[in-house]
Amino acid sequence: MSRPSVAIASLGGTISMTPSAAAGGVVPKLDAAQLVAAVPGLGELADISAEPIFQLPSASLGPEQLLACLAWAEGKVAGGARGVVLTQGTDTIEETAFFLDLYWRHPEPLIITGAMRTPLAAGADGPANLLAAVQVAMDDQSRGRGVLVVMNDTIHRARWVCKSDSLSVQTFVSPDGGPAGRVVEGQPEYFHPPVDRPLASPPTRRFPKVAVVPALLGDDGDLAVAALDLGYEAIVVAAFGAGHVSFGFAAHVERLSKVVPVVIASRTGAGATASRTYGFSGSEVDLARRGALLSKWLHPLKARLLLGALLAAGTPREQIPDAFAKWGTLPRHSPIQQQPVP
Ligand code: ASP
Repeated sequence: MSRPSVAIASLGGTISMTPSAAAGGVVPKLDAAQLVAAVPGLGELADISAEPIFQLPSASLGPEQLLACLAWAEGKVAGGARGVVLTQGTDTIEETAFFLDLYWRHPEPLIITGAMRTPLAAGADGPANLLAAVQVAMDDQSRGRGVLVVMNDTIHRARWVCKSDSLSVQTFVSPDGGPAGRVVEGQPEYFHPPVDRPLASPPTRRFPKVAVVPALLGDDGDLAVAALDLGYEAIVVAAFGAGHVSFGFAAHVERLSKVVPVVIASRTGAGATASRTYGFSGSEVDLARRGALLSKWLHPLKARLLLGALLAAGTPREQIPDAFAKWGTLPRHSPIQQQPVP
């Protein structure tokens, strides 16, 4: 039987960073081949190919680089790879994973991993994370699950994953959906079967600028108005609680919604926006009446990327609410018939 092939590409991040006296700290240095070389036995698991794509801190990745990664990964699965792995900085994984998941149409798993500790630190986590990522990428159970984040032997879906801690090795969490699975003794074990994922149409134009403006105590969101002058084409409000803003911010939302799509998401980091609970001025009911969309389960950072993708695909304004709702709402499952135990 032929061995599975797994393609790995490095984009930079802490997993690749070594000290530079000139820079005054660590900077991206190691490439995919060097990361692979630091994992004993990796080559015995699968046919591994390793390529550097970028050498960046993840704060400086953007749509242009991610679309290049997407094209690279598609080329690898077309060439027979059983799965692909990207190594990158952890600071933006919650966004890059969601961005790539919007477009990843293949059953083969696309895995993203990184490290919280640099390669020279005691207890560096990069090699273990890369090993687990390859183990997940080559396993048939990982097929049909879209883009997955593998860190600290835990598997997260792009839709839910968030970075929750600035420096801890245990930083990635999936607050609402929970993790997809764990890596146990070198094998992925999933808590649930794969679910259907909505997909975005490919971009037909440059990715637009979409602003995220937080609701803040004693602030009426004037930045949201200024964003239009700066060329932003849509606005996500990271609103209080279940989707609430001040009276003044609500008036801005009404004016802005006449010009650009405005999405209300919760700044709390977990839970859905409400839709029919609160009726005060600036509440979710009021903001929807004023023309805003409610993000439901979608985190503000992910809502921003989805709005950008819909606009980049040329989605007409009147179709944005329905298109957006496919990601914000959860699919309703038909009841399962219980089978008696024989
Ligand atoms: N602290 C980051 C990391 O964990 C740096 C980055 O995102 O590039 O990789």
